[in-house]
Amino acid sequence: MRYRDLVEVYERLEATRQHSEVRTLLSELFRATPPQLLPSLLYLSQGLLRPEFEGIELGVGEALARKAIAQAAGVEDGQVRRESTVSGDLGVTAERLRSGQRRLEPLEPLEVEEVYAELRAIAASRGDGAQEERLRRLTGLLVRAGPVEARYLIRFVLGSLRIGIREMTLLDALAHAFADGSKAARARIERAFNLCSDLGWVAGELSRHGLEAMDSVTIQVGRPVRPMLAERARSLPEALKRMHGPAALEYKYDGLRVQAHVADDGTVRLFSRRLERIDAQFPDLVATLPAAVRRRPAVLEGECVPVDPDTDEIRPFQEISRRRGRIYELDRLQSEVPVCLFLFDVLLEGTDLTLDRPFPERRSRLEGLIAPGPSVRLAEQRRVEALGPAEEFFDLALSEGAEGVMVKSLAPESQYRAGARGFWWIKYKREYAEGLSDSLDGVVIGAFHGRGRRAGRFGAFLLASYNPEKDRFESFCKVGTGFDDAALAEMPGRLAPWSCADRPPMVDTGLAPDRWFRPGLVLEVRGAELTLSPIHRADFGAIRPGSGFALRFPRFTGRFRDEKAPTDATSSTELRRMYRQQVRQSAPGTGGG
Ligand code: ATP
Repeated sequence: MRYRDLVEVYERLEATRQHSEVRTLLSELFRATPPQLLPSLLYLSQGLLRPEFEGIELGVGEALARKAIAQAAGVEDGQVRRESTVSGDLGVTAERLRSGQRRLEPLEPLEVEEVYAELRAIAASRGDGAQEERLRRLTGLLVRAGPVEARYLIRFVLGSLRIGIREMTLLDALAHAFADGSKAARARIERAFNLCSDLGWVAGELSRHGLEAMDSVTIQVGRPVRPMLAERARSLPEALKRMHGPAALEYKYDGLRVQAHVADDGTVRLFSRRLERIDAQFPDLVATLPAAVRRRPAVLEGECVPVDPDTDEIRPFQEISRRRGRIYELDRLQSEVPVCLFLFDVLLEGTDLTLDRPFPERRSRLEGLIAPGPSVRLAEQRRVEALGPAEEFFDLALSEGAEGVMVKSLAPESQYRAGARGFWWIKYKREYAEGLSDSLDGVVIGAFHGRGRRAGRFGAFLLASYNPEKDRFESFCKVGTGFDDAALAEMPGRLAPWSCADRPPMVDTGLAPDRWFRPGLVLEVRGAELTLSPIHRADFGAIRPGSGFALRFPRFTGRFRDEKAPTDATSSTELRRMYRQQVRQSAPGTGGG
């Protein structure tokens, strides 16, 4: 398959906003792709070289890309720099320089396979000559690329592909390409993806062996499972009512969710909530986990929380964030901020796939599997049926440093539901008890210039929720409150990788910010209440035609949700549910509130 044909599809994808058209374009593309090429094509179209959890970095920065563009076009570095300042997009600059160039003889067209292999080689180059090798390979690709190919190549290497197709859209398109496109077919493909988190691999298997192959996909040690997520309740009675019988209450620890894979040979891999490898940050856990697990292999889930080594008490979450992304000074941090992993689930134990077992069985297996120690313990749990003991347990949880409780179903259907949010797990936090509304996680999609004290800086940010059905990011508030000077100063740097010239295609808002950003950075905000607004687009028209949900008096809590991918942000459906709950509570005669 020619790379030119692929970028032609990219161009068409960028030009359309119709979900059904996107799906048709993609499923036609998938069908036309040879099966052995399909995995690479899936990764490439997501701006990746391998599934995200492998953490492969290309190692190409703007300076190197500029040099490659200059060399391929036979111009000075300075000219590329000047032109890109005007266009604001090195991809466009590469395209323009390429189209201005006349070739003496036509060169061999680029094949997708070759492009992929070269990009892999660029990512794999190491050591002294690595920069030169990357430059040589990238220049080699650009020399043979046509103008549009050059644009997408440069955008790819700089991590700004911008065609805006997300996992859910890709799954949908796969179901149409290789099955009947029904909801049931899509669910079977999605299940396989949830268990292995590798869309390229799933696509390859599906195209070669059909839908049946999806049913035999199972957990593999070393490949993260997409996490099961919780719904929320406004009160403990409501949470218990939803359980229709006895429930397990657990402490809701406020730390980092960790999925631990302990292989047969004792190798440990740790994944974050967004499935990034984080074992380098927790060498202490990597060292203690093999001995804490009585049977291997094992795949476990827990929350990693800072603890006081002298008293075993839980410490504030902020202390753990200092350990994220740090690989230096680990020795000092390990002793200063020791952590404990509170395990709450087991997905695989030896050869048994426990994930499909109901929760009570998983919990008792977990209890038999773990030899607790200072840094690996079981999440506190109590089974309750009545409100009294539940409230007592909740108070206990708070007094011991947890932020609330998780209410978990004990029903036969309480399997571990990878990648799904449902009422099998319900979170109930302290802030609900105190009458404050829950925090929301919004994705930054735009920024506004500041005035007065904030002149010359960003003054406010436009936040969006994620709508998985439409695969779009829909604005729900403009927030400027809650940023101290340090946070405000950090914003441009944090947003730089997501900057773009125009409104990204997957973004929907009635506002026109001064700067646009592709969805990347997630912030935690609080607000007074949800209202309906004609300028915001969250779940547009769901309650009233021409209106979306908006958060009134939004305020940044100071917490950057780096552990969340943009698609993990609060969803537009959650906003709708919260709005309805709010209406119910304030309606006269319901007795709520
Ligand atoms: P999301 O619900 O999208 O994960 P969030 O990250 O804001 O949003 P929380 O409101 O913190 O989620 O609630 C769910 C999270 O609570 C889990 O992802 C997990 O990290 C954490 N957690 C803490 N204790 C437990 C427990 N005992 N069982 C399950 N999850 C727990």
